[in-house]
Amino acid sequence: MYDTFKTHVSRELAAIESAGLYKNERIIVSPQGASIRVADGKEVLNFCANNYLGLSNHPKLRAAAAEALETHGYGMSSVRFICGTQDVHKQLESEISHFFGTEDAILYAACFDANGGVFEPLLGEEDAIISDALNHASIIDGVRLCKAQRYRYANADMEDLERQLQAAQAQRYRLIVTDGVFSMDGNVAPLDKIYLLAQQYDAMIMVDESHSAGVVGATGRGVTELYNMKGEVEIITGTLGKAFGGAIGGFTTGKKEIIELLRQRSRPYLFSNSIPPMVAAAGIQMFRMMDETNELQDKLHENTSYFVEKMLAMGFDIKPTASAICAVMLYDARVAQEVASAMLEEGIYVIGFYYPVVPKGQARIRVQLSAAHTRDQLDACLAAFKKVGIAKNIINV
Ligand SMILES: *Cc1c(COP(=O)(O)O)cnc(C)c1O
Repeated sequence: MYDTFKTHVSRELAAIESAGLYKNERIIVSPQGASIRVADGKEVLNFCANNYLGLSNHPKLRAAAAEALETHGYGMSSVRFICGTQDVHKQLESEISHFFGTEDAILYAACFDANGGVFEPLLGEEDAIISDALNHASIIDGVRLCKAQRYRYANADMEDLERQLQAAQAQRYRLIVTDGVFSMDGNVAPLDKIYLLAQQYDAMIMVDESHSAGVVGATGRGVTELYNMKGEVEIITGTLGKAFGGAIGGFTTGKKEIIELLRQRSRPYLFSNSIPPMVAAAGIQMFRMMDETNELQDKLHENTSYFVEKMLAMGFDIKPTASAICAVMLYDARVAQEVASAMLEEGIYVIGFYYPVVPKGQARIRVQLSAAHTRDQLDACLAAFKKVGIAKNIINV
């Protein structure tokens, strides 16, 4: 059978390639950081990682991981409920709920798993999930695994959310689900307004803080901090793979009864391995650092404002952002690809996004700022945008 299947797969691959959608992976030979070395030996400044706080190669996290490797070993060889729970896993869960001001937390191998395992154990056929149209793929997949009725509202559109809530009144329980920060525009979910609608139409709220935790809010506690709603939403999911060190791991945190039920019934938790002890130990260290100082969040916010301000002053078209994501709008897919290559020639690594990742005619370069970027590195990126922008007739300074 494989002969004919192989032909089929090869045809699919060729179609992806000819549509210009084939994803090539660039090989990095240095640790992740503000400056990276790629396989051909070239050093480039990295503006496309989720390394928002610059923790991916932080000496304190490396030291905590190395120490745990000695004291707790390399791997757990077990799921949590058989023999995969160490003191560090419990401590990390408690650090997570302390950070978000929630009642309890449960760890997963990734936030993809947290979202995959959150809906099905909690809601059934008689219930409703009301989901933002731009929510992350893992939320979409998680909702698919659950029998609840599905409602969808246009991105951050509160009139549409209200209509969907009205339509969902016949259901037993209602859960509104939203990303905290939407990764393509960098906009923040209007949680204050969502909360009012949830009160009015008797619904619960779940926020995925993957791109917002560590980033949004004065002390990086995410959108619940930004809207002064810490502890107010029922469910928060998030990742340890972005601002929080960038290794691996996800979590769900919120009301303690919900977390307790997830420990009993959530399939990616019950049937998948525990995170490595060194990752848990580095996570604990990371949350303690955040309790001690707000230096990294302050630096990130300062870097983001500086960058956005200078880009606007040069005449670039920037999506309004409330996160560390800065979408430089170019609209045309070909131009976005050309700008990304030209930027790389200048030693700046940024990525162009175009259809189907963003709507047709909405192509852009997504710049991600980090606390690890120095002022000189930001200036180098800005200078490259200026040079490329003038050369491509995008700006005229
Ligand atoms: C990145 C991301 C995830 C997936 O996180 P992993 O821990 O890498 O699986 C889930 N949700 C959102 C909103 C994300 O941005």
